Amino acid sequence: MDLDLVFLGTSGSVPTAKRGLAGTLLRRGGERILVDCGEGTQRQLLRSSVGLVELPEIFLTHYHADHYLGLPGMLKTFALRGREVPLTVYGPPGLNDLFGILRRVFGRLSYELTLVELRPGDGVARQDYRIGAFAVEHGLSANGYALVEEARPGRFDLEEAKRLGVPEGPLFGRLQGGEAVELSDGTTVNPEQVLGPARPGRKVVLAGDTRAAGSVLEAAKEADVLVHEATFSVKERERAEETLHATATSAAELALAAGVRLLALTHLSNRYFGPEIVREARAVFPETVVPKDFDIIDVRFPERGGPRLVKGGALSRHEEGEPHDKDGSGDHGERPRGGGGDSDDPALRGDPVGAPVGRRDASEGAR
Ligand SMILES: [Zn+2]
Ligand SMILES: [Zn+2]
Repeated sequence: MDLDLVFLGTSGSVPTAKRGLAGTLLRRGGERILVDCGEGTQRQLLRSSVGLVELPEIFLTHYHADHYLGLPGMLKTFALRGREVPLTVYGPPGLNDLFGILRRVFGRLSYELTLVELRPGDGVARQDYRIGAFAVEHGLSANGYALVEEARPGRFDLEEAKRLGVPEGPLFGRLQGGEAVELSDGTTVNPEQVLGPARPGRKVVLAGDTRAAGSVLEAAKEADVLVHEATFSVKERERAEETLHATATSAAELALAAGVRLLALTHLSNRYFGPEIVREARAVFPETVVPKDFDIIDVRFPERGGPRLVKGGALSRHEEGEPHDKDGSGDHGERPRGGGGDSDDPALRGDPVGAPVGRRDASEGAR
């Protein structure tokens, strides 16, 4: 099962020319989960190879403007496209109050919108993973989120199964599924005879805005990837403490103590460009990366090499080598390609911006 993180916005508080505001897309198999939706997130999605897909779920970490201002515009775009797929927004307590205000901005929607407030300890359980909310320290109602997969069955010992006389075929599958099987000679083979110890699933932790906190350390224990903010360098430690943000050093110390595999630092203040932050953190915790917008972290299983940063992994082909006309406009009169779309998303049906054909109605005039 593929699992990755697409970084759509990696700047803190204000955007820069190179970095957008908070937005990270978690992709697991065919599922798409957006965490935070800063101003400009819908355009970042359009510019990426993902496209502006009909996200079914959005998790907000807290209600500072740099983490949610992209939401009303995105919800409105979905409505203008005539979206019918329901959308659930999760966030810490205060979500209903926030939407009391936002509703006046985005108006009536063409789809069902559900709001779910999550307190630390609450979670959303899925068939084989869970997204749990945990406490952070940012001076207001705020959650971090941890995606934790269930343990995987142990490795299947093919040689041993053959030696025990299990014929190749459906019995292998039943043993792998944890079932005892009876052979034609009447003997029983139990799954533990042919399966190694259960292997842990993967764990991806997004802390959102927070100072380096004990609750984050607890949640991040042994995580494959910890995405932590590093708004400041250690040189601005006092400012970080005042504003309840982390420094590259404090985030790295936390990652080291938690025993994570890979630390991804984000939410950089606009006075930093990245290299100084990554140098500072690596002095404490070498397995640190500072992703740029459109970078991906591919969260591979440990036996496949573990997590790795794929630079520019979500840049659409259109963006990578965008040709310019002689006048520099780059406008070839084509219809917008919207980032090329995401072939995994059935909702797109081959249309890069997912606009259902022939469903445009009069309400579009309100654009
Ligand atoms: Zn922020
Ligand atoms: Zn904040």
